[in-house]
Amino acid sequence: MKMDSPPLLDRIRFVLVETTHTGNLGATARAMKAMGLSQLHLVRPRTPPDAEAMARAAGADDLLAQAGIHASLADAIAGCRLVIGSSARLRTVKWPLLEPPECARRLLGEARDGPVALVLGRERSGLTNEELALCHFLVHIPTNPDFSSLNLGAAAQVFAYEIRQRYCEGLGETLPREDRDLATAEALEGFHVHLSQTLVEIGFADPDQSAKLSRRLRRLFHRARPDWTEINILRGILSAAQGRKDPERFRRQPRDGGTAA
Ligand code: SAH
Repeated sequence: MKMDSPPLLDRIRFVLVETTHTGNLGATARAMKAMGLSQLHLVRPRTPPDAEAMARAAGADDLLAQAGIHASLADAIAGCRLVIGSSARLRTVKWPLLEPPECARRLLGEARDGPVALVLGRERSGLTNEELALCHFLVHIPTNPDFSSLNLGAAAQVFAYEIRQRYCEGLGETLPREDRDLATAEALEGFHVHLSQTLVEIGFADPDQSAKLSRRLRRLFHRARPDWTEINILRGILSAAQGRKDPERFRRQPRDGGTAA
């Protein structure tokens, strides 16, 4: 079996959100490159990759030089069909939770059909609830429950290692695959913006208090993993709820020359 078919590993993005220490950017680039990964994306890094980052990258500076820099997590995951967020803490919110080997299998499995992303949070505070709401799953590296937080670069290394192991096992057909034309992250985001507007317009949601509702709805639709056709149907329903469709268009015309009974 051919081990290095780069497209699969090249479709897995590591997205780092608001990283404070540039050394961690370098450490992550090194961890990724050593495991054959290449797609590093940064969301509002406090400082773009600098000399410290290059030093810690120890030869993986090409990944830093090519890293995409984004204004928001939504931008960084544009085009992705699967997004997995990582967390040092097990949240009270019920989120579908994976361990690193299953996370790696899913990323690889779905990378066959398009780009996928693993999201890593801030050194101090991890990912916000709004950012988690953009993820399909959460992954947690099992740790000492009293000391569960790994250094960002160390966590990236664990994830990258698991991906390489699963890749090298050549799981091929046993990798989980959602064999549908799934809507991408930005298509889902467009739907959620439309949904929020509609819920306010039809008097269901209070515009000033709808953040929690919106997160719950995101979780619901992320669980369902809608495909493109389903998203189009849902958006059509929203347009109708907004009064932008005329029910008269379904009224059957009487046949010409027909006589009333
Ligand atoms: N104090 C923060 C820790 C952040 S550590 C918090 O409580 O969330 C920085 C990032 O490294 C995390 O956002 C996560 O992406 C990753 N990370 C660290 N430890 C992890 C663990 N045990 N499991 C999964 N991800 C972890």
